[in-house]
Amino acid sequence: RTSVRVMFTGLLIVQKYGGSSVADPEKIKSVARRVAESAAQGHRVVVVVSAMGKTTDALVALAAAITPTPDPREMDMLLATGEQVTIGLLAMALQSIGYPACSFTGPQVGLITDEVHTKARIRRISAERIGAALAVGKIVVVAGFQGMTETGEITTLGRGGSDLTGVALAAALKADVCEIFTDVDGVYTADPNVVPEARKLARVSYDEMLEMASLGATVLQSRSVEFAKKYGVPVHVRSTFKPDPGTLVTREDDSMEEVVVTGITHDRGQAKVSILRVPDRPGIAAQVFGALGAQSIVVDMIVQNISRDGFTDISFTLPRADRARAEQVLAIVAKDIGAAGVAADDRVAKISVVGVGMRSHAGVAAQMFAILSKDGINIQMISTSEIAVSCVIEDKYTELAVRALHDAFDLAKEP
Ligand code: ASP
Ligand code: MG
Repeated sequence: RTSVRVMFTGLLIVQKYGGSSVADPEKIKSVARRVAESAAQGHRVVVVVSAMGKTTDALVALAAAITPTPDPREMDMLLATGEQVTIGLLAMALQSIGYPACSFTGPQVGLITDEVHTKARIRRISAERIGAALAVGKIVVVAGFQGMTETGEITTLGRGGSDLTGVALAAALKADVCEIFTDVDGVYTADPNVVPEARKLARVSYDEMLEMASLGATVLQSRSVEFAKKYGVPVHVRSTFKPDPGTLVTREDDSMEEVVVTGITHDRGQAKVSILRVPDRPGIAAQVFGALGAQSIVVDMIVQNISRDGFTDISFTLPRADRARAEQVLAIVAKDIGAAGVAADDRVAKISVVGVGMRSHAGVAAQMFAILSKDGINIQMISTSEIAVSCVIEDKYTELAVRALHDAFDLAKEP
């Protein structure tokens, strides 16, 4: 009698489930079944989870009920609790359906970050404990969003940071893929809530995803995409609730360049801030943006006009959540440099047209402006990159602008 030996060479997969996927016990149980499916196929699985549902928002609100200016170290102490709840529950759920599982916090898996509380950057991951647990056949469940400084202080990686944990673990473990399970089933040519005929993209390049993420397509945290690009981690964005493949975020190839416009994004999460009548001399911009940088406030678009009478206005956008803090900082800077004052406007939206094909095709900006003007939409600010053109417009025209652009660039049709 001959026996046939089947060599089972499964993959090493990192799966990340976001807050909406683990919002209640039933959902956690169904995530456990989905994870178990992959394990049953012979894959080694590391699962990264977010806090349940809107837990992190609730924790932020709790802090705000205590003080308007919470100490960042204590904020991290608070925020890191959200994910710890989920890992315990998911590990239990896996065990109760017969799969050996073990949960770890960020610090326990040696995810070491810098000291910038609430927005820490990852320095290194030792991941030894993960390797050891996988080696004895366990499913490893890791808390997203959190890490530890060299001196043992708990840190968090910025909102949406569980994506980064997933990608960083995939890089550290040299995983075959990082699957991001979420409540959308992929990356679309535009937000389907705004454009019903938006089309799911099978593949998108890191650079396009980066533009889309930083431009407000909230599918993936942008730092996680930067990280994935740097380490070449294939990221598969897919639905928690459906089995179909989603969108693969991957290296660019020639076929991607043939498509000029890949997608239209919009971002209502920004505010526009202007410093008025700034004296036009060297060092001013450095002082303004240095002051914001020192507060870890990330500025996006910047526009400065030529000066007429030795004065100019500087306008820029930044996250709406940072607006109040920015105004405080800038009021002082404005006084210092002899500017007339600071004005802020929340009722803005940023609309962008994205595509790697723009590298080799001219005229997209002009087309975009023409489409917006046809609907009488005024453009307040413009910025461009190699693969994107963005306009800041008044908030209330967001839907109109996105639909008009999607239509005019014919994105509903398969290229
Ligand atoms: N729970 C954190 C947040 O809501 C991290 C994450 O979900 O990615 O920002
Ligand atoms: Mg998220």
